[in-house]
Amino acid sequence: MTTALTRALVLTLDRERRILTDGAVAFDGAGEILAVGPTDEVVDRLDGGARIVDCAGRVITPGFVDVHVHLGEQLMRGLVPDGAGPTEWLPDWLLPTYAALEPEEERLAAEVAIAELLLTGTTTFCEAGTLLETEPVADAVLRTGIRAQLGRWTWDLPAAPARMRATTAEALAANADMLAHLRSRGCPRVSGAVILLGMGTASETLLREAHALAAEHGVPKAMMYAGTAPEHGGTPLAAASLAEWGWADERTKLTHVVYVDDDEVALLADGGVRVAHCPTAALRHVKGLHRHGKVPEMLAAGMAVGLGGDSANGSNHFNMLRLAYLAATLYKDFRMDSTMVPPELALEMATLHGARCLGMEDEIGSLEPGKRADLVVFSTEHPEWRPMLHPVQNLVLNATDRSIESVWVDGRRLVEHGRLETMDLPAVLAAADVAAVSLLERVGLSAPWDWPRA
Ligand SMILES: [Zn+2]
Repeated sequence: MTTALTRALVLTLDRERRILTDGAVAFDGAGEILAVGPTDEVVDRLDGGARIVDCAGRVITPGFVDVHVHLGEQLMRGLVPDGAGPTEWLPDWLLPTYAALEPEEERLAAEVAIAELLLTGTTTFCEAGTLLETEPVADAVLRTGIRAQLGRWTWDLPAAPARMRATTAEALAANADMLAHLRSRGCPRVSGAVILLGMGTASETLLREAHALAAEHGVPKAMMYAGTAPEHGGTPLAAASLAEWGWADERTKLTHVVYVDDDEVALLADGGVRVAHCPTAALRHVKGLHRHGKVPEMLAAGMAVGLGGDSANGSNHFNMLRLAYLAATLYKDFRMDSTMVPPELALEMATLHGARCLGMEDEIGSLEPGKRADLVVFSTEHPEWRPMLHPVQNLVLNATDRSIESVWVDGRRLVEHGRLETMDLPAVLAAADVAAVSLLERVGLSAPWDWPRA
């Protein structure tokens, strides 16, 4: 059955960036967008049996795309002390805990993450390449209705933890298995990518072979890159080496990319590399964005720069509106230049750029015929939306997820008035509480509080 959301203010993000003040979005029963335009024109073309959803007083945007999230960490949120340094948080806190995750716990962590993503308007996410088992997570994606690109834990240099140790051949074979398995699910909403941990954990052979594997399967490849400050001992590979090993092409998404010079930005931009910018993780993990960050230069060079919520101990949230707000404000102050990253560009980063980062630009990122009906409906019955003098400023600079009324993926409504339609959220959260305690007991860690427990 065809559905049409009508009489809304629609931020289409289409080629002309049309803002329809009395607009409609119509999509078919399979979730493909049929028409986007003025309400009168769209309704005139509908067949008699179409379902009309009156969205007067609402704002409709494309669903947000979060290009870098670690799902498993949802059961460890708040574990790492706020003051833990860059050399402590991973080996001392996160790696031992990740290594203890059971498949059922990974599924539960994924469900908590998916709930948070959907409730804040994210309709597509890319896992950061830290899943130990992708099958239970694919189950959660399929059941909840969200769209996802998954990646498994892949490296070949670290010797510990034992559970993640892999030879180059094993790491590649596990990725090939994952891609075959996800394809066998037969659902375009869940796909895979070859995602390495990066940051000095992959041999040159793994990098070269991962490039070949991604090309062979026609999927993106990704890794974290240049994300540890030189002040903290980080020594990123030269971008020229990346290019030599096949990691400077359009199939490549690099995450963080804080420590690059202008020549490297030009090299990566020429190759068509996409970047996952994680502003909240950069701020909490002291990456030195204000001193080193090149996001304005990357955007000026035409690169796709998507936004990533990153992780539950380095962000600690997956709220795309908060990320877009930072994208639209940080660089103005860092550069003392009010023209840096206007809210329109920040919204493009949260949608169109995100879609390009995941190689999904033909499917998602804007509301246009032929794309998937992934969208967010905001109610303007909240002070943050009034008056409606500038809808893009209202969305990026003042709106919060509180005003999200419904969220749709593939033409299916997954959130309605703050309630998830495909998940028993209280039951999932209760199970996650129990699982988190059990996990940390097994690992022998606890989150230290600075203030006394009374
Ligand atoms: Zn990350």
